[in-house]
Amino acid sequence: KPLVFSGVQPTGNLHLGNYLGAIRRFVALQGSHDCIYCVVDLHAITQWQEPAELMKATREVTAAFLAAGIDPKKHIVFNQSRVMQHAELAWVFNCVARMGWLSRMTQFKEKAGKDRENASVGLFAYPTLMAADILVYRATHVPVGDDQKQHLELTRDIAQKFNNDFSDRIADLGLGIEMKVGEEKVNGFFPLTEPLIEGPAPRVMSLRDGLKKMSKSDPSDLSRINLTDDADAISKKIRKAKTDPAGLPSEIEGLKDRPEAENLVVLYAALAEISKEKVLAEFGGQQFSAFKPALADLAVTKLAPIAAEMRRISSDENYVDGVLRDGGERAGVMAEANMKMVRDIVGLLQS
Ligand code: ATP
Ligand code: MG
Repeated sequence: KPLVFSGVQPTGNLHLGNYLGAIRRFVALQGSHDCIYCVVDLHAITQWQEPAELMKATREVTAAFLAAGIDPKKHIVFNQSRVMQHAELAWVFNCVARMGWLSRMTQFKEKAGKDRENASVGLFAYPTLMAADILVYRATHVPVGDDQKQHLELTRDIAQKFNNDFSDRIADLGLGIEMKVGEEKVNGFFPLTEPLIEGPAPRVMSLRDGLKKMSKSDPSDLSRINLTDDADAISKKIRKAKTDPAGLPSEIEGLKDRPEAENLVVLYAALAEISKEKVLAEFGGQQFSAFKPALADLAVTKLAPIAAEMRRISSDENYVDGVLRDGGERAGVMAEANMKMVRDIVGLLQS
């Protein structure tokens, strides 16, 4: 049965990329799938977080999920650290995944920077915890932005190696499910999860550098539009957004090798829910000085109601914490049922 899992880190500064690449799509999947949406606080601490800020950011991401339209009664919303089976399965996966696999992860290289010796072991092992988040529920589909593609490939590699390493045991215990690997049908315990990297904006770029993705952790606040930015901040950031001297082309080909220009067109198209062609049909031939205010107005119109709803929800801390507690309990039941089988498969004695 299809099951959706995804997560967002409580690292502050939720931005338009998180919304268009992830959260808006989480909302859309609710009608057709059972969904588990997680505020991944254990991921956040792979880099230093002030404890009080971490708690605040955890509630803020939760409020953003709810404000965007995720229904915590029909689906599950919780923070990762409440369900310790994530960390337990991550340990098992640390023993399945190979050092070489993790060494190739570009997110680690980017986040560790030059001083790699000084990065936390957790930052290096981030992808095994992410695999555990997904597979502790045996989730089949994961909506994410384009930057997470490599981690989802690794998740499949880990599932496949686990299924392979323990294939006899899985068969003996009768715990396999049938799945296709290429053309071959095999029996395995963990599904080979499909990434859902789609929608009009799977990779929103920084407003300051069209070759870098928009990120919560970018030190420049001008690089991103935060979900909580007011109209003035949004207008200012879009006005200051880097562009090239040419105006807007009338055809898509005219955006080639113009990452900053393309990014602004993508943002308009995604926010207005129209095609890039349609945006260019309207604005082609105009200067960015004319396009930018239109984009800013559109962004304000779309984001202001979410920001207002986030503020309303955030003002009721007990409600937010209640959602996380209830979601954590329901997630915990599912995770423990799967972990019991994992312990049995691996040979971790429980009797
Ligand atoms: P950090 O810089 O702390 O890693 P982040 O902005 O990358 O923050 P995450 O919490 O790591 O945010 O990611 C949450 C979700 O948002 C993931 O599915 C990720 O792929 C997606 N996402 C992040 N940045 C972008 C972006 N620029 N465009 C589209 N999707 C994005
Ligand atoms: Mg990230």
